[in-house]
Amino acid sequence: MTFDELGLAAPLLRAVSEKGYTVPTPIQVEAIPAVLSGRDIMAAAQTGTGKTAGFVLPILQLLGVSAAAHPHRLRALIITPTRELAAQVGDSVMTYGKHLPLKSAVVFGGVKINPQITALRRGLDILVATPGRLLDLHQQGEVNFNALEILVLDEADRMLDMGFIHDIRRILKLLPARRQNLLFSATFASEIRQLTRSILHDPVAVEVSPRNTTAERVEQWVYPVDKKDKSAVLQQLVRENDWQQVLVFSRTKHGANKLAQQLENAGINAAAIHGNKSQAARTRALAGFKAGKIRVLVATDIAARGLDIAQLPQVVNFDLPNVPEDYVHRIGRTGRAGAAGRAYSLVSADEIKQLNAIEQVIQRHLPREYVDGFEPGHEVPPSAPLRKPQIHGQAKQSSRTGGDGRNTSRGSGSDGHKRPEQRRRRPAGRSRPALGGNTR
Ligand code: AMP
Repeated sequence: MTFDELGLAAPLLRAVSEKGYTVPTPIQVEAIPAVLSGRDIMAAAQTGTGKTAGFVLPILQLLGVSAAAHPHRLRALIITPTRELAAQVGDSVMTYGKHLPLKSAVVFGGVKINPQITALRRGLDILVATPGRLLDLHQQGEVNFNALEILVLDEADRMLDMGFIHDIRRILKLLPARRQNLLFSATFASEIRQLTRSILHDPVAVEVSPRNTTAERVEQWVYPVDKKDKSAVLQQLVRENDWQQVLVFSRTKHGANKLAQQLENAGINAAAIHGNKSQAARTRALAGFKAGKIRVLVATDIAARGLDIAQLPQVVNFDLPNVPEDYVHRIGRTGRAGAAGRAYSLVSADEIKQLNAIEQVIQRHLPREYVDGFEPGHEVPPSAPLRKPQIHGQAKQSSRTGGDGRNTSRGSGSDGHKRPEQRRRRPAGRSRPALGGNTR
């Protein structure tokens, strides 16, 4: 399948080829023709699948064809949960639309509103926005939805997690009733289904990458350690494996700051990225990380969501998330676009419960390994037996999960039978070749 065969017009084919894409990803193969046909779509897709181009390309095409008839009126609105994601989607609109006479802007909170007002007043075709700032701008009379034809809700599940449901409902009331709706979500829990029912009209269901697939193509390890040793263990892992670029997850903003400081003190360039940081500081940290100046980026779940960092070789869970689904989002930051990734979790005695919950969600026992010199003082209980897979609101269960609830995929740690007593002791990660992947 080629982009050409998907029915994309020449200016878009040119932009795609300049970007270096040769083959559309599975979600693009499904979503592009569906959007072009004018249908609503409900897509189960995570970041990393190429979903952004999956909706941006056909939207550009739909608007581009009739651009002359609607000189820069707001016809497509893309709502994202986070500023980072908004900025990335905005970049994609610019990149893919560079040979079309369409104008776009990105608006989000935490930065000055005046330049955004100026951009809106100049006229534009496509607006990418986070919910709060969009409502502010509307209240100030600076945005008009009368000509709106297409609405995209990107990462809808995360919008609900972040408490944006009321904002979303308020926005929906402001939009023309007749419009095309595209909804993207990594999961389809009951709240999302409800939202979907109230928004989408006879949607095409697009699902190419059930959530478990991400978990299957990422090699994962658990390192049982004492809580007080976690920072030292992380430093040892970074040094021994010579990691030049690692994304580390922290459950709290304070924890992220503290860890980044400890790493800096130990001579490892690090930065923290979370909701209390200014937009400028977040952008700077991400740019430093992408440029290779910052080796360790410590992020909270929300800040990390949607970060577009291609082929991140590894991620580390400095602590485990309280919500097991967040684990899947976290490890989805590595092993993207078909590349193998590795995820390491430092697990202290107080996190065994979370670990068990994660293993149930991914339907897989994670292999335990021990870092020389940092064996934990606590006993590590064996993995709990896996219960029958629960459908955590997914649109479809992974076809790789056998009916008996056991994951039938291949790959390290997926045999479901590893027990901690089969301890292998070796310097962490040494036998695994470095991928040498770099960010763009
Ligand atoms: P997304 O899921 O939209 O965040 O995209 C994930 C990454 O895949 C981004 O870095 C895109 O630039 C990249 N990407 C999207 N479509 C393609 C494609 N057809 N071929 C190669 N890379 C792609």
